[in-house]
Amino acid sequence: MNTQIKYLSELNPGEEGYIAKVLGHGRFRKRINEMGFVAGKKVTVIKRAPLQDPVEYEIMGYRISLRNSEAEMIEIVSSTEQFEDKSQNYGTIDEGLKTSAIKKGKEINIALVGNPNCGKTTIFNYASGSHEHVGNYSGVTIDAKEATLKYGEYTINITDLPGTYSITEYSPEELYVRKHIIEKKPDIVVNVLDASNLDRNLFLTTQLIDMDIKVVIALNMFDELKDKDIDFRYDDFGKMIGIPVVPTIASKGTGIKELIQRIIRVYEDADPSVRHIHINYGSEIENAIKGIQSVIWENPSIGDRLSSRFLAIKLLEQDNETRKFLSQYNNYNEIIAEAEKRIEALEKEYSEQSETIITDAKYGFIDGALKETRTLPHEKPKRQIRKLDDLLTHKIWGFPIFFAFLFIIFEATFAIGQYPMDWIDAGVSWIGDLVSTHMPDGPLKDLIVDGVICGVGGVVVFLPNILILFFFISLMEDTGYMARAAFLMDKIMHKIGLHGKSFIPLIMGFGCNVPAVMATRTLENRSDRLLTMLIIPFMSCSARLPLYLLLIAAIFPSNQGLMLFVVYLAGMLMAVVMAKIFSKTLFRKKEVPFVMELPPYRIPTAKSTLIHMWEKGKQYLKKMGTVILTASIIIWALGYFPRDTEYSQDYDAIIAQAEANGDDETAAQAAVDKEAERQEASYIGRIGHAIEPIIKPLGFDWKIGVSLFSGMAAKEIVVSTMGILYQADEEADENSVSLQKKLQQQTYVHGPKAGEKVFTPLVALTLMIFVLIYFPCIATIVAIAKESRWKWAIFVMVYTTLLAYLVSLAVYQIGSLII
Ligand code: GDP
Ligand code: MG
Repeated sequence: MNTQIKYLSELNPGEEGYIAKVLGHGRFRKRINEMGFVAGKKVTVIKRAPLQDPVEYEIMGYRISLRNSEAEMIEIVSSTEQFEDKSQNYGTIDEGLKTSAIKKGKEINIALVGNPNCGKTTIFNYASGSHEHVGNYSGVTIDAKEATLKYGEYTINITDLPGTYSITEYSPEELYVRKHIIEKKPDIVVNVLDASNLDRNLFLTTQLIDMDIKVVIALNMFDELKDKDIDFRYDDFGKMIGIPVVPTIASKGTGIKELIQRIIRVYEDADPSVRHIHINYGSEIENAIKGIQSVIWENPSIGDRLSSRFLAIKLLEQDNETRKFLSQYNNYNEIIAEAEKRIEALEKEYSEQSETIITDAKYGFIDGALKETRTLPHEKPKRQIRKLDDLLTHKIWGFPIFFAFLFIIFEATFAIGQYPMDWIDAGVSWIGDLVSTHMPDGPLKDLIVDGVICGVGGVVVFLPNILILFFFISLMEDTGYMARAAFLMDKIMHKIGLHGKSFIPLIMGFGCNVPAVMATRTLENRSDRLLTMLIIPFMSCSARLPLYLLLIAAIFPSNQGLMLFVVYLAGMLMAVVMAKIFSKTLFRKKEVPFVMELPPYRIPTAKSTLIHMWEKGKQYLKKMGTVILTASIIIWALGYFPRDTEYSQDYDAIIAQAEANGDDETAAQAAVDKEAERQEASYIGRIGHAIEPIIKPLGFDWKIGVSLFSGMAAKEIVVSTMGILYQADEEADENSVSLQKKLQQQTYVHGPKAGEKVFTPLVALTLMIFVLIYFPCIATIVAIAKESRWKWAIFVMVYTTLLAYLVSLAVYQIGSLII
């Protein structure tokens, strides 16, 4: 008898075979199926490349080349096999081959995997009609029992594997199960769970999810769930984790038939609840995974055998088996080097083994999934608070606590930030004075003092506040409280058509909209991502903070924390309203539920929180050195030129005259008037006057208009432009007076409002609202375009600006009527 040919990779050029089934995991399977490799199709080997790899095949008239590692995953029936099978009488040889390939495709190999004593053997016995002993003989021989059963046209080969709590490499049982899954490649892994002990049983499930294989869950001991009066919404749970769940009571045989039917459905790719999900391990681990994956992908054939994500996770867990597996590939050394580098960085940051961090994240995933779908009996009648966590995620108390935290954070941002802010302010003034006194007069000096120092200096003073805000955000993330907040917000978020998970990018938006837009990647559903992106700009980022701080300190000195809170709250309200509108109009979609991880609380090290704070703050400084500096210089130049202004009066003569008479007041006034006139005639003045009619109904003067216009590049520039425009009114030697005072003193020079203050409380409020809503910065727009499409980026540009105008108009006009 010839050795049987089983895989496509074993065929030689010129030979042909019929596809029986495609093994392997998620993406690989999908791609191969899409290429036409489905049961019953004929393939012919055309030729092998000189180095044996890849191989060219013909299927359905197409030429396709496959890597050897891919062909190894395709089971076939070939003519050698056929000729031995004389028992059946086929019409033609081809027909016969095809039929037997399809028949082979109806043969499903399943493996039972689960903790000890969850009922695997009982399921095995019932399904196969055999009589294996039940009970776990730990420490005795480790082996797998096999049996075959027929169901309709299907032949199902069941393997009962030893019980394990995990699939790592710590015990012979674990290694055995792992080898079976990876080497024998069962079509479906049936994960048997003890329903009354899900928290522990699901750990194994999280590992199966990482492996990206087809899984069906048998929710065994379902009777005990009922006895214990536990309410488990297993259908929701299954949808959330993308694995079909079938309740069974193996000892009575209940549910086994349904289990088999479900297995067949999944095998035939006909089960809608099957979905490959990623367990979210948190941004640091996820970045490490991506880094390792990208090195793995340099050798694409690795990914054909095993999911690259799985391999990367395993490497981060310092798994020896994975190293062994990878050692056969030529880029082994690079992969290991990358993994070592990532592990070292992670452990330095967390002062904990990377494996522990991953395990914690897995339990966080389990806790999150169960918290949403399972109600334990004692939770029902009295909603008592037993732990701190119960309080923080309490249905009612959770919210005031959360908002109190937010409020404290904003207050602290001010109170603590005030001191370093004053120092930096003094430092900037000092540098300005120094340059003023030591540099010769001329355009260069003006550029440095009025352009660079006023522009950048006006923004740099807010660095402490921003770092403090980032510190608190990092702290909330690192302790695990942020995840609770997201959990808490989930129900509310659903009401506006979003998920609790969207809440994290939204909160991050308070720091900077750009990483927030990127963080929407953790959302699996495309419309959830888009919707979240569209409202992120309402999360008032730290770039807008300088303006609020400036205006609030200048105009609302007695209610600083409260005012800031109001502005942020207004942004959130805006987000809610718009999300509601968008989800009713643009994104009317089916909801895909998913798990919100609840990582264990941890006390973060000061070091890691400081690192995270700095990571975020760095971007701010970078922006200062690039976008803001450039914009400051441009704005300054637009305000500085042209220099040949024709004045309405001969101010120089008036000043000379007044000084000769000893009338300092008149001289000073003339100097101010002259500068004001010059500025109005400058390029920026012309731009400002051009847009003035549009912004006048909002109560803004032309300088505000210009500031808003230039703030489109980055919102800090609103302040730096104001710094340049309002500062310039005063004589050079007095530029140590802070911008705050300048704004308080600013009055209209002429027109119907001449003599009136420019910044009334109403104007300040309207301006803050406008800045809150209008055009997110260029960087955010680019990020949105990158994460979705330009179409959406442009949409965001337009709708936010229109909305800002309408809302500000309403605020100012209604406010004017009341006051
Ligand atoms: P294994 O270690 O996973 O193979 O588990 P076994 O099949 O040996 O079962 C362990 C014990 O659980 C046996 O005493 C079974 O009779 C019992 N058992 C199995 N399924 C169920 C079930 O659905 N409900 C209940 N109450 N007991 C079960
Ligand atoms: Mg057993």
